[in-house]
Amino acid sequence: MAKANENYLKLPGSYLFSTIGKKVKEYQEANPDAKIIRLGIGDVTQPIAPAIISAMHSAVDEMAVKETFKGYAPDLGYEFLRNVIAEEDYKSRGCDISADEIFVSDGAKSDCANIQEIFSTDNKIAVCDPVYPVYVDSNVMAGRTGTYDKNTETWSDVIYMPCTEENGFAPQLPSVTPDLIYLCFPNNPTGSAIKKSELQKWVDYANKVGAIILYDAAYEAYISEDDVPHSIFECDGARGCAIEFRSFSKNAGFTGVRLGFTVIPKDLKAGDTPLHPLWARRHGTKYNGAPYIVQKAGEAVYSRQGKKQLKEQVAYYMNNAKVIYEGLKDAGYSVSGGVNAPYIWLKAPNNMTSWDFFDFLLDKAHVVGTPGSGFGPSGEHFFRLTAFGTYENTLEAIERIRKL
Ligand SMILES: *Cc1c(COP(=O)(O)O)cnc(C)c1O
Repeated sequence: MAKANENYLKLPGSYLFSTIGKKVKEYQEANPDAKIIRLGIGDVTQPIAPAIISAMHSAVDEMAVKETFKGYAPDLGYEFLRNVIAEEDYKSRGCDISADEIFVSDGAKSDCANIQEIFSTDNKIAVCDPVYPVYVDSNVMAGRTGTYDKNTETWSDVIYMPCTEENGFAPQLPSVTPDLIYLCFPNNPTGSAIKKSELQKWVDYANKVGAIILYDAAYEAYISEDDVPHSIFECDGARGCAIEFRSFSKNAGFTGVRLGFTVIPKDLKAGDTPLHPLWARRHGTKYNGAPYIVQKAGEAVYSRQGKKQLKEQVAYYMNNAKVIYEGLKDAGYSVSGGVNAPYIWLKAPNNMTSWDFFDFLLDKAHVVGTPGSGFGPSGEHFFRLTAFGTYENTLEAIERIRKL
């Protein structure tokens, strides 16, 4: 008889975005004249840049001609894309990463979720709290997280690394030694980033205890400060302890197109076992690569026109971030993020819970954001606003909040 993977039953329901949707719908029905502005959007809104669209059109035309038609893409991705990534994202930043250490995929989410498959289920994981929920959820499905405590909203076998006001939303090294450490910088949802010297401490720690860092750099393109690293491979010794995830979703608007990549150094080992061949084996079987047309689109991201157009898109979002950050700060709110990431992390005033503040903002300003508690217990009194809306709406939303 077939048996289900009961680990899936342990997952608490994903209430966050469905609850938000329900509350907003109910409010709009009761208040049909309220012009609701959404500053909780976790998706990009600007269209794909012209240089990229043009590359996709050409790739589509190639598919129509016998001589240039392409079938299955190579497991690790086309060389034209891996070469340009190695050059532009790594060599040009002084990182020793070669094209054959890059695995092109259909996005960072699946890679972040699937990477745990090449590790033993005995491994103990550590995660930032709050953070993007994919890391914990994928380990729950694999049976690595123990039991769930409804009251504390934590798993018994997960090491939580609180990111709080006190530590500037950058975690301290854990007191219990983990095997796998998930780090996400710039961070979703707090928008915090860490300096290269800080990241170096994590790399040194991981090398010392034999842990592997799973580094999610999905928001790398938003980094504006010079001393914030774009890749973990900018740190000495990272080849011995790190895997990095990248995405074209937030820098180039590929959330619907789907493209990302994972970097696994050839010499990286878990114990005595090299990991590169394991992930290569995985790619050969559980292929989650990207189509030729999409990989050509990815190549255009690095073209002169592509870079220029994407820089403008990022600047557009970051201008919104500035409007939110400065407007709220000026109004007396305690705010962080928004400098190296499109997220602003806001402390709910008067010790309100994040859901109370959600209701308050919706009712008084008709502005929708995301309650911090949805990203982990340390988000209980915090709130995430995002820069992905239009400039006009962002400006109006902040004006309304300022008037409260
Ligand atoms: C959006 C996001 C990703 C990107 O996921 P894709 O699957 O590439 O769209 C990865 N990590 C974090 C933290 C994100 O917020």
